[in-house]
Amino acid sequence: MISMTKTVYIKTVGCQMNVLDSEMVIADLKRHGYTVVDTPGEADLLLYNTCSIREQAEEKTYSALGKLKETKARHPEKTIGVMGCMAQKDQETIFRRAPFVDMVVGPGQLHAIPDMLTKVTSGEGRQIAVSLGRKDGKQTVVARSHETFDPLRDPTMRPTPFQAYLRIQIGCDKFCTYCVVPNTRGPEQGRSPEEIVSEARVLAEQGALEITLLGQTVNSYRHRGPDGETDMAGLLERLHDIDGLKRIKFVTNYPKDMTARLLETIRDLPKVSPYLHVPAQSGSDAVLKRMKRGYTIADYMEMFERIETILPEASVSSDFIVGFCGETDEDFQKSVKLIERCRFKNSFIFQYSVREGTKAAANLIDDVPREVKAARNNELLAVQDRISKEDNQKLIGDTVEVLVEGPSKKADKSDLDAPIVQMTGRTICDRIVVFDGNRRQAGQLMDIQIDDVSSHTLIGRVKTVEVVSLGMPGLAPSS
Ligand code: SAM
Ligand code: SF4
Repeated sequence: MISMTKTVYIKTVGCQMNVLDSEMVIADLKRHGYTVVDTPGEADLLLYNTCSIREQAEEKTYSALGKLKETKARHPEKTIGVMGCMAQKDQETIFRRAPFVDMVVGPGQLHAIPDMLTKVTSGEGRQIAVSLGRKDGKQTVVARSHETFDPLRDPTMRPTPFQAYLRIQIGCDKFCTYCVVPNTRGPEQGRSPEEIVSEARVLAEQGALEITLLGQTVNSYRHRGPDGETDMAGLLERLHDIDGLKRIKFVTNYPKDMTARLLETIRDLPKVSPYLHVPAQSGSDAVLKRMKRGYTIADYMEMFERIETILPEASVSSDFIVGFCGETDEDFQKSVKLIERCRFKNSFIFQYSVREGTKAAANLIDDVPREVKAARNNELLAVQDRISKEDNQKLIGDTVEVLVEGPSKKADKSDLDAPIVQMTGRTICDRIVVFDGNRRQAGQLMDIQIDDVSSHTLIGRVKTVEVVSLGMPGLAPSS
């Protein structure tokens, strides 16, 4: 058993899956006597939860680790751990590049951390726990080695106390040629609906008003159990019944699995957010084929039109990769056209980065120059920003319901005792709203009237209810 006085610092980068993994690891470490501190200097244990989706993310982590060399030389008693996708992808390489690291833990092995710590601190040397590679055994055995780690959660590690992530699916089997996720997170596995519903109930009892269901292709969710198969629509129906939950969101969607049944279910369940993040990745069929995305632009548009017909109030967002192998100017212009046609709420734009172990790294040439990637990135962002702003402008004068998350970044720096601060929250369609309010409003659903907009934010004020006097002027009607 680990001593009761240890402290842990955790740095998390990357996607929501990593945020959730950090929450779970911290919950586990707290049960083993650790307390969380805000700076590496105060910590006995330093954990880096890493991302390997692009080279830049990895290089940043290696550079952050490099800075710990001296810390470790001065304080050899401190333990340094690397977890997350980079741990699974680079494994022993991390020890070679940063020899002062004590533990490397893949995302499918997080439950092993307390035992590994005991071994490190009792002088057994460096520890590594990673899952099997995709070809290292039978599919079921590989899948088991990537299984998720679901101990009791830690509400204090959440983005806000009333918002929580809930993993419904592990891994990915789509094998897009550019992507490391199927290797780092393993085979696609839907968690059982019973497990998901009971976790959601606990989250609601702890005060979560909004849950975001996580999966790499969340709408492809499937689980076969003794009572038959549950799909995403069936799961949403079961989660919708949970008392206390007000909003259910889910990311990320795969275009080919956005079925009419799922869209009709979203339409018919008022707690389910009609916000659909459905990455297109490119507007060119030739590029999509090289990416092995499994659909054409005609398929994507068919799906998009299905959304427009069944869920006209939905907000749709996308991811794009620019400068993928062989992308010509003409291909790129097709991505511009797709954004113009679909008018996404927002798009995340990434410059293609070669990832070791992927099909694209093995078979395709990264032939788009860095400057061209950067220029296409800027051009696509500018088009998306213009469209986001134009569409946001249509909301000026409207009243939107906002789940208030807390003071905005701007307000955080201001006087903590100030009665009025800038507060921020989101609409059910995931639009960010800021307004002047007070800190006590965090966690409330409030009506905000929109006065102004930018491409990323709606700016409003709390809608005040007009009191209509029916009797003598200045008096409210008697009841
Ligand atoms: N599973 C989700 C999907 O398929 O849309 C998202 C996976 S990934 C965590 C998020 C985004 O990173 C992808 O949608 C893609 O745009 C981008 N991405 C993945 N691999 C990349 C690479 N090698 N280079 C640049 N961007 C990449
Ligand atoms: Fe990566 Fe494609 Fe799977 Fe998304 S669907 S995680 S981009 S392989």
